[in-house]
Amino acid sequence: MTQIRARFAPSPTGPIHVGNMRTALFNYLFVKSRKQGRLILRIEDTDLARSTKEYEGYILNELKWLGIDWDEGIDRPGEYGPYRQSERLNIYKEYAQKLIDEDKAYYCFCSNEQIERDKEVTKAELGIPQYSGRCRNLTPQQVEDYRRQGIKPVLRFVVPRNKVIVFNDLVKGRVEVNSDTLGGDMVILKSDGMPTYNFAVVVDDAAMNITHIIRGDDHLANTPKQLLLYEALGFEPPIFVHTPMILGPDKAKLSKRHGDNFIGQYREKGYLPEAMFNFLALLGWSPGGQEEILSKEEIIENFSLDGISKAPAVFDINKLNWMNGVYIKKSSVERITKLALPHLRAAGYIKGDISDEDFKWLTKAVAVVKDRLSYVGEIPDKLAVFFTEEVVPEDDEARKVLAGDQVPGILETFREKVQQQTDLTAQAVKDIFKQLKKELGVGGKNLFMPIRVAITGQVHGPDMGQMIEVIGKEKLLKRIDYTLTNVL
Ligand code: GLU
Repeated sequence: MTQIRARFAPSPTGPIHVGNMRTALFNYLFVKSRKQGRLILRIEDTDLARSTKEYEGYILNELKWLGIDWDEGIDRPGEYGPYRQSERLNIYKEYAQKLIDEDKAYYCFCSNEQIERDKEVTKAELGIPQYSGRCRNLTPQQVEDYRRQGIKPVLRFVVPRNKVIVFNDLVKGRVEVNSDTLGGDMVILKSDGMPTYNFAVVVDDAAMNITHIIRGDDHLANTPKQLLLYEALGFEPPIFVHTPMILGPDKAKLSKRHGDNFIGQYREKGYLPEAMFNFLALLGWSPGGQEEILSKEEIIENFSLDGISKAPAVFDINKLNWMNGVYIKKSSVERITKLALPHLRAAGYIKGDISDEDFKWLTKAVAVVKDRLSYVGEIPDKLAVFFTEEVVPEDDEARKVLAGDQVPGILETFREKVQQQTDLTAQAVKDIFKQLKKELGVGGKNLFMPIRVAITGQVHGPDMGQMIEVIGKEKLLKRIDYTLTNVL
């Protein structure tokens, strides 16, 4: 059995996009689900101007955060290294020379203007704009002259004319393309000597013995060009698996205007890695059943390339919020509290380090709101009631609640009963409400609402008993006094 070798090949030119992360995830799931094989992480940094080491580190960290592990890569040496394209230039040069020696590639000195003019001509003649092949038959003397003028050439690969290229994509099915539609002889080395994407990717995938290429279908159009290079270089092509795009809810390609696009933005907002793992796995893949909350193990167990859908996947933020909420519920309150700390610091609720005692109190506060969160970044808002000193009604609805004739009486009696408590537990609060109902003859909303608004300024919020227990007697009395004297 040949060993499976899949790869994820990001360009470190920016933070990692959710679409790329999904590609990485599918590669990982494929290798893991087959219980053999290796995942290679190759850094495609030939765009020297835009690639940075910082983004490289960022990508590695984001992959680790999500729980994707690889077997070979820049930080995990293997026998197919180096795993950074900028360190493989000699390898590309070697294969470029092979193509030159076999008359399959030639230097081209055309200026951009010349290329554009020629494209107009080929468009008129063939109906398709392409490079004209002008430099294909330069004499050694002409080449010499150009070089003497200091013109730095590109290297072009000879694209055969009118050749039908056929391949079987595991998702797209049979794909057939005529070579005349590919734009003419293609550049494989740029004038600065760097390989183009199509050339480097073929040399590397072949040299690294990659058996399966799982990537976004934005690369489907590159595949025929790559197949011509496989053939010219005498390499065996791998199996291609082009995954469908991820779209926004309006069915347009996912972009900035749909909101957050980078995986790091979700991490920073407090989405949990296991929720993101689950959510991304279901973007374009389905295990077949109805169940959507699936552990990493279950996903690996069920994953297969056959389950990748042909139709584009829609990134539904409401579904992600729901799913993340489910995972937050499953998490321990200590974990969520720890994750909440940077958010609470940013909101100014916590300054610097937190004492054990304060952390303990904070976990109680988090416990009150935890099960109603979509993401951890919502915590400062939800916990505002625990940190604010003076509470005022937040809107007209809340103001209206406090306008009732019975309100002062309710608040005063409530205050008295609270004052008498030595231990203001959630249960004690419940008992107080019962007594108030009996004594004042007011129940339900008419009783709860004024108290809720006096304590929180809001008409909605967490369970009152639990909330009051966390706020504590002293603060609670202060708030009621404040409402009685300043708000009513
Ligand atoms: N560096 C390319 C990208 O990020 C890799 C494409 C491929 O997987 O072939 O799009």
